[in-house]
Amino acid sequence: MRNPQRGILCAGCPHRAAYLALKEATRRKRGRVICGNAGCTAVGEVHPAAATCPGGMDALLPRYNQAVPTGGTVDEPAAPVCVHVAADLEVAADDAAERFAGLAAEGEITLFAVMASSRRFLARDAVEELGQRVLGLGADTVVVLDPFDAIRCAEVLGSLLETPGVHGVIFASPCAQLQRGEGANEPVEIDRYTCVACHRCFQITACPALSFAPPVYQVDPDACAGCDLCCNYCRTQVIYSPRSRMGVEEKSRARYAAAQR
Ligand code: SF4
Ligand code: SF4
Repeated sequence: MRNPQRGILCAGCPHRAAYLALKEATRRKRGRVICGNAGCTAVGEVHPAAATCPGGMDALLPRYNQAVPTGGTVDEPAAPVCVHVAADLEVAADDAAERFAGLAAEGEITLFAVMASSRRFLARDAVEELGQRVLGLGADTVVVLDPFDAIRCAEVLGSLLETPGVHGVIFASPCAQLQRGEGANEPVEIDRYTCVACHRCFQITACPALSFAPPVYQVDPDACAGCDLCCNYCRTQVIYSPRSRMGVEEKSRARYAAAQR
């Protein structure tokens, strides 16, 4: 797999999948705010498409680069929905209590979304400990989600967004750069004879492994990390994955196994 370019989420980045899940769930919510600092140059601030679109970052950044709200008073009411994105290591750090003080004042409904992708959080018990940490920081509930499981993410996030309070959501999937195991990253393929060049796969995911080679889209097999995210968005279903017979849990296990080799 190639190294990422600065400002672009890597091919197969689990943060991209988590962001898409959050945006899908919150897009029709009035007064939503997405904020945070998840460490990577792009995560926490930028729409995935903005990172690869010249000029797009400038146009879209103000919309997504929101300061963390400190409302909750008569003068400064809390946002109806605040999605506060944080990196796992930020949440585990000694100064986390100070850094995340006031989560409850950020929104009537606050999703405290923690990206658990680094090497330290590859084991299940480490993720569970992180969940306890999230509760200790003021979340009323905590749930662990595979960001690539779009259906479950939609169900769970939709339900959390109906309930006022602070909800911890841990998006657990290993960083794409840790998945070096053989066979874990077999690329997807686009059928060049049936792709209708609708641009949807790229416009939604902004995956750097996808590119337009007129008249159709193509996948760079050296760059594709085999996350299968783009397959979810091709309405004509012409992106073929070698993992099409695997369930979401099996795929998740394969990603963790590849990261631990
Ligand atoms: S499967 Fe699709 S979204 Fe995932 S890395 Fe490959 S081209 Fe990108
Ligand atoms: S979403 Fe599917 S049909 Fe549209 S450009 Fe991508 S591969 Fe082609």
